[in-house]
Amino acid sequence: MRRSIKSAISSGLTNFRAPFRGIVLVSEFDLIAQCFAPLAGPEGLGLKDDAALFRPTPGTELVYTVDAMASGVHFLPDEAPEIVAKRLIRVNISDLAAKGAKPRGYLLTIALPHDLDIVWVQAFAKGLGEDQAEYGFKVIGGDTISTPGPLVLSLTAIGEVRQGRMIRRAGARAGDDLYVTGTIGDAAFGLEVAKGAHDAISEPDKTYLESRFRLPTPRLDFGQMLATEAIATAAADVSDGLLADAGHIGVASGLDIEVVANSVPLSDPARRIVIGRNMLDDAIIGGDDYEIVFTASPDRWQVIKTASAKQGLQVTRIGRVIEMLGDKPAVRLIGEDGAAIRLEHLGYRHR
Ligand code: ADP
Ligand code: MG
Repeated sequence: MRRSIKSAISSGLTNFRAPFRGIVLVSEFDLIAQCFAPLAGPEGLGLKDDAALFRPTPGTELVYTVDAMASGVHFLPDEAPEIVAKRLIRVNISDLAAKGAKPRGYLLTIALPHDLDIVWVQAFAKGLGEDQAEYGFKVIGGDTISTPGPLVLSLTAIGEVRQGRMIRRAGARAGDDLYVTGTIGDAAFGLEVAKGAHDAISEPDKTYLESRFRLPTPRLDFGQMLATEAIATAAADVSDGLLADAGHIGVASGLDIEVVANSVPLSDPARRIVIGRNMLDDAIIGGDDYEIVFTASPDRWQVIKTASAKQGLQVTRIGRVIEMLGDKPAVRLIGEDGAAIRLEHLGYRHR
């Protein structure tokens, strides 16, 4: 579950006119044959059967994840269909990445409003095709229904990981270091920019932040390396917010997590906002980063540094895992003086 558009809607973006005009009558069968069959992998049997037939690579285990999106809740009603498609793929790829899995295929369920123009679905399918090529996997089936409600999309991704190598949330150990890939807070600020905030920042900064929000970059290669080299003891992708997702690792592992506020990596545009407005908290509790937060034994530092350089991906040590200080696992943000910073809440709460 992701937070962003929900907050956009609640703050007055509901007046967007729906982009769906013109009623084109196409049977479900024609729609699948025209838009989705050309995208299907061999396991999909041409999308002409009742089900897909999937053969895992010997020696691997299958990893499943699903994410759904509703128009007006998880994306703006006037968002470009190609972007909607890519976001749907990428939020799922991000979960596979955090588990160290290689994408193998996906199932797609779509609930289409009665008056949705097929042009929208064609553009949506084009976006799917482009990201299928980007991430090396294909659709193998799905379901298509029509609805009087808003557009709803659900994608179930299937990944593969070598037996016993999936990185869980529950594997952290006291004494581990905590790391995060990329930079944090861009997407949260990008959403605010999309809503018309941060007027004072430069146009290139606005463009950068907004694009980080609209089209995340899941860290697939790095996640797979964390698994194949058995580097990470635990990992999660950052969708609810850095503190919340680091906290998920702590809860699953029965340990406390400390995040050092000043070590959280910020992009230059995000830093300019944080410095000007004293908004570091917003970056740390904001969501939709789709980076990987992970734990590893301190003696893995050198390997992590080398891998980060090889992949050209920033990886930053941001804290540590310690034994529980209280009676239940906690995540703490540590300030310059070494004391915990009090925060109202840690990130997006599921409602
Ligand atoms: P059933 O009636 O058995 O549910 P459908 O007629 O819904 O089957 O689907 C026919 C084929 O098209 C199946 O292979 C199904 O997986 C595929 N399919 C249906 N909708 C989609 C979709 N949105 N994306 C990809 N494949 C789809
Ligand atoms: Mg059937």
